[in-house]
Amino acid sequence: MARQGAPLLSLAPQNATPVQEFILKVASRCNLDCAYCYEYRHGDESWRLASKFMRPFVYEAVARKIAEHIDQHQLKEVSVALHGGEPLLLGPRRLDRLAGTLGEIIGPTGAELTLTMQTNATLITDEIADVIRTRCIRVGVSLDGGRKENDRYRLDHGGASSFDRVMAGIKTLRAITPGEPAGILAVIDIENDPIETFDALASLEIINVDLLLPHYNWDRRPPVPPTSRMPAYGQWLSTIWDAWVGGRHSHLRIRFLDNIVARLVGHPGLYEQMSESPVALITINSDGAIEGVDTLKSTGTGVQKTGLNVLDHSIDDVLVHPLYLARQDWKASLPDACEGCSIKRICAGGYLPHRYRSGTGFNNTSVYCEDLFHLVTKIDRDIRVRAGMG
Ligand code: SF4
Repeated sequence: MARQGAPLLSLAPQNATPVQEFILKVASRCNLDCAYCYEYRHGDESWRLASKFMRPFVYEAVARKIAEHIDQHQLKEVSVALHGGEPLLLGPRRLDRLAGTLGEIIGPTGAELTLTMQTNATLITDEIADVIRTRCIRVGVSLDGGRKENDRYRLDHGGASSFDRVMAGIKTLRAITPGEPAGILAVIDIENDPIETFDALASLEIINVDLLLPHYNWDRRPPVPPTSRMPAYGQWLSTIWDAWVGGRHSHLRIRFLDNIVARLVGHPGLYEQMSESPVALITINSDGAIEGVDTLKSTGTGVQKTGLNVLDHSIDDVLVHPLYLARQDWKASLPDACEGCSIKRICAGGYLPHRYRSGTGFNNTSVYCEDLFHLVTKIDRDIRVRAGMG
């Protein structure tokens, strides 16, 4: 990872946090063709060469290497997220076998295994919902709002709406599992009205919602309609913040906003974005290649690759890789341009993939810098006023 003008690393390798979160690319293709997709639409072509599905000898090796890592570091818990592409292209039998193998090999370590899945939900059948129930898989559904909001970008390869299929999938999941999907993941589209989007997401009656900034960077800028109030993404999120703290759908948990609040009140952070905590996450692709967080594909540079593979290497081997070490100490990897920022302890330079610019690599502010500054300072002000400190 290129970082000019400052050392990339400040941690000795032996200080790296053991990996506790594993994203498995169990399918490298998708039945949808979302226009903003970082896997297929941002110039990374590695999926073309990857196995369509993670084969049994690969996921057995993954499970063995995770178990070995747990034993070596006496880990009490790990999470494994089934991703794609679309993981449900596996179908019920392959999914069942894969989830069963992970449980059988990791289970005896005694560490608590949380199995999750991020899916577009369009392929959920009774049979798949039954596997999800029996294998205790926590399901996150990708959906950008109501029909209007969702169908701007989340279409299939024939250009058809995915909305009704997602709704049918959620309904099936609720009927068979029974219970709620664990959460909804919505990519922010500032062409959509924020309140309409918020209402549509709330109408799904799923408590956990996350709003994702789309994965753009300085080379490939986020789309901003010419009529937008600037900073456009910050304004959009602020509108939702105002409604939320004003009592609209206040029962929802919105991870992106919760994380900022957590950071402002001194919590280290809720996830791998805008956090002081070391990032203990790797991705394993369908061929077993060990990579950094999959969203780095949005740079289209192949920077996510480590050259390591679960078939030939241990998980410990990644602990000394620069890509992993670079996310162990937020201060060491803070872009030079963020040093003087009044909210650097909260924002931490934004999300790593959003900093990318060819030539300077990741030593740049987030492409959403103005948006994040606007939002964080607003939330800070509001919290202080509510606490009687403003
Ligand atoms: S708001 Fe901008 S300058 Fe400040 S820490 Fe975040 S990305 Fe850096």
